[in-house]
Amino acid sequence: ATPTALMVGTGRGAQLGILIKGPEVLESTRKVDTVVLDKTGTVTTGRMTLLAVHTADGTDEAEVLRLAGALEHASEHPVARAVADGAIQKFGSLPAPEDFANVPGLGVQGVVDGHAVLVGRERLLEEWAMELPPRLAAARSEAEAGGRTAIAVAWDGEPRAVLEVADAVKETSAEAITRLRALGLTPMLLTGDNRAVAESVARQVGIAPEHVIAEVMPQDKVDVVKRLQAEGRSVAMVGDGVNDAAALAQADLGLAMGTGTDAAIEAGDLTLVRGDLRAAPDAIRLARRTLGTIR
Ligand code: ADP
Ligand code: MG
Repeated sequence: ATPTALMVGTGRGAQLGILIKGPEVLESTRKVDTVVLDKTGTVTTGRMTLLAVHTADGTDEAEVLRLAGALEHASEHPVARAVADGAIQKFGSLPAPEDFANVPGLGVQGVVDGHAVLVGRERLLEEWAMELPPRLAAARSEAEAGGRTAIAVAWDGEPRAVLEVADAVKETSAEAITRLRALGLTPMLLTGDNRAVAESVARQVGIAPEHVIAEVMPQDKVDVVKRLQAEGRSVAMVGDGVNDAAALAQADLGLAMGTGTDAAIEAGDLTLVRGDLRAAPDAIRLARRTLGTIR
């Protein structure tokens, strides 16, 4: 394509809400055959709400909310915001945690009012040699079977509760994925969340269960992209989180949600300004047209 055509393509992209880092990006956009989509914040809104609290025998629900909420208040994760907002609604203010630490892909840990508190995936508790009692394990399974994310809460060496959180699929996601497929591309869902939740989201937007890659640790997302590339695929990655930055950079084409983190936007080749996934098929169509290959 001529430099003028590339300039026009870039300008048209801006009108469609697609910011293109440089004209050369259109070339990689054109070649893509597989689109890997992050779940939380990309396919879903990322605005989670706390739906239920299941407590262990003898545990006070208000205490669960207060300690878990205080710890999550220090985290930016969508799950953390849901838990902290639920607690703030109830208590107004929360104690400040000490020794707070994020455990990427697993949860958070810290000390609240003298209690050593953990909030996160069941695996986080397992790392501290704790196991959910049968009642809480049953609540966890039921939540996940229903497509909700189950979060475990423990303090002072005892599992105390399971929280249920969920977010909604964006209204535009299913249409975007239908259009990607119509362009001959294979959409895949990639997430750190558990398989049942991931498959429930996939079902809602029309991604095949065999194209769901779940329970992937943040640092391993990049390896999933490498593996697909090693299979001979030309991979576009769409993401919004700090977690997605390395995978966005590794992909043949990185598409960052404009509503996402700065780290994702810096790592991407394209920014979907409005956070609307339909801009992804728009970008690919635009690149094919600009470079004169209508498939
Ligand atoms: P995603 O890939 O969907 O954006 P992450 O890799 O950030 O998700 O997190 C994976 C899982 O780890 C979450 O679904 C949640 O179960 C758990 N998790 C991560 N951070 C937190 C937190 N701050 N509090 C509770 N759970 C968390
Ligand atoms: Mg995300």
